[in-house]
Amino acid sequence: MNKSTSNRDSFYGHIAQTSDAPMGLEISHAEGPWLYTTDGRRYVDFISGIAVSSLGHRHPEVVDAIRNQLDRHLHVMVYGEFIQKPQAEFASLLASRLPSNLDRIYLVNSGTEANEGALKLAKKHTGRSRLVAFRNSYHGDTHGSLSVTGRDIYRDPYLPLLPGVTFLDFNDPSGLGNIDEDTAAVILEPIQGEGGIIEADPQWLEKVRERCDETGSLLIFDEIQSGFGRTGKLFAFMHYGVVPDILCMAKAMGGGLPIGGFASSGAIFEAFRHDPPLNHVTTFGGHPLSCAAALANLQVLLRPGVMERAAAIESRVKETIRGKGVVGVRGKGAMLGMQLESYEITRKTVEFALERGVLLGWTLHSNTLVRLAPPLIIDDDLLGEVLQIILESLGRAHQN
Ligand code: PMP
Repeated sequence: MNKSTSNRDSFYGHIAQTSDAPMGLEISHAEGPWLYTTDGRRYVDFISGIAVSSLGHRHPEVVDAIRNQLDRHLHVMVYGEFIQKPQAEFASLLASRLPSNLDRIYLVNSGTEANEGALKLAKKHTGRSRLVAFRNSYHGDTHGSLSVTGRDIYRDPYLPLLPGVTFLDFNDPSGLGNIDEDTAAVILEPIQGEGGIIEADPQWLEKVRERCDETGSLLIFDEIQSGFGRTGKLFAFMHYGVVPDILCMAKAMGGGLPIGGFASSGAIFEAFRHDPPLNHVTTFGGHPLSCAAALANLQVLLRPGVMERAAAIESRVKETIRGKGVVGVRGKGAMLGMQLESYEITRKTVEFALERGVLLGWTLHSNTLVRLAPPLIIDDDLLGEVLQIILESLGRAHQN
């Protein structure tokens, strides 16, 4: 049995499966926008590992930072007891780029953990338990995050979830009266990702902020997918000028290593310090390797022209694809979606593009939307080639 066959067998035999039809590409290595497979092919990663590798795979400065940290120390102590340089440097650089009410961060390992922590923090700080969330949202697959995820088919098998969650329609101001004095937090994605790349309406978002202020409820923005430059600014809320009380992040934060976090003010974070002390701890949250990677990733992102590239990608993609057999192209920066008319056309377009070496994908809640989330470092020539392949795949999908 050759090595490749045995890896395939082990994958299907011993890795718990979550899909009836996994893509099953066997990865050899990855560099920049490229994924290389063991059969000698290469693919443009046009979904960036689902909005993770915004600087491409193995950005040299991120890899160097990980190597340097590797020679100093790995895990040394649970979260928040020791002063660790990579954590401290990352947190202070991030704080320098965030509004002053988001100058503290609690570091975790993943997106869903960031949301879990944010929900607990809001409950503890306000002394309230009601939560308001939105239909079509996605916040993660652990119990708390799933409790505020707005799609029944994912929730139903796991009921009962957290009590006291009210779902409202995204972008509909008429329901906002449901945010009341018993509401601990309102959680939303400024751009719904898995819901199919749906941007918040700026006026609606302002109204949500106002209603939270009136009722003393905390506003949580889940920017796990939209953060770290994906939309052309460090966070999507910066396009809107509406500032949350708690900001959740993960995915692209670690430049390819697992890390997440939720940022808020010192006053709000007081709730985690007492009654009882240590009431929210994690062993690996803010792992030094991940923080070293996150620091290098952020330093590169903040250089002139890096995040700005997202706007150029957006206009090129929209100009090239709009009106060419698609219902529409929407989204901001490099967080884009191509709306097609049927599942069949969508499935075939993704399949044909893969044959031609371009990796596209769906979003979790929509099977007629193709996710377009290229790395920000993709150059104009390669972007042009990929868009051509997408157009040809679309054309073929319509003929078949
Ligand atoms: N929130 C949003 C908006 C997401 O897109 C995701 C992941 N798709 C999550 C939370 C969960 O993140 P993770 O998979 O790291 O737990």
